[in-house]
Amino acid sequence: MNMSAIKHHIPDHLLAAYSAGNLSDAFALVVATHISMCSDCRASLEAHHMTGGIFLEDAPAQDISAGLKGDILAQLDNPFRPEPVHERRGIYPGPLNAALKAQDPIWKKLGMGVHQSILSADSEGSVRLLWIPAGQKVPDHGHNGLELTLVLQGSFSDETGFYGTGDLEIGDEDLEHTPTAGPDMPCICLAATDAPLRFKDFMPRLLQPLFRI
Ligand SMILES: [Zn+2]
Repeated sequence: MNMSAIKHHIPDHLLAAYSAGNLSDAFALVVATHISMCSDCRASLEAHHMTGGIFLEDAPAQDISAGLKGDILAQLDNPFRPEPVHERRGIYPGPLNAALKAQDPIWKKLGMGVHQSILSADSEGSVRLLWIPAGQKVPDHGHNGLELTLVLQGSFSDETGFYGTGDLEIGDEDLEHTPTAGPDMPCICLAATDAPLRFKDFMPRLLQPLFRI
């Protein structure tokens, strides 16, 4: 994988929240998985850890300027020190492989060739893997809250752009999108939400609790 090909990264406020331990488990897993794939975000996280530990001991983590970040990184022996290591397994980076307990996901049919594997779902939110056939369009859906979608294999495109392997899409209430998997191979994503999705046509709303999406 060409790591430098990653175009869509973790926004600074989310990195700060992750660094401060303020993300739900579902979002934290997606963030940790992206970080394990992305040296840029790893370096930014180091900067947040440093500012959190040294300058902002009793204050909430805040965005830091690029200049400050550069100064901090210059002082670190090894700014690209990885997060605690779990081994990558196939397309599943370490943190995700750990969440899967080093087992293959159990896929369930969702319709139109799309499969999902739910890793966890509760009132706080959910995190799951999605398997979308090459070239398949996923029906229009909106969000009640935040949705993070990380591409593990293949790619998808929607109204907001192109997302290749390692890219992270941030969806919020305002995003109503129709992702389409790239033509070359099935697209496999890790997706976390803090609220149920609002599918328009995908399945009757009544069935949503059944599928826990
Ligand atoms: Zn990144």
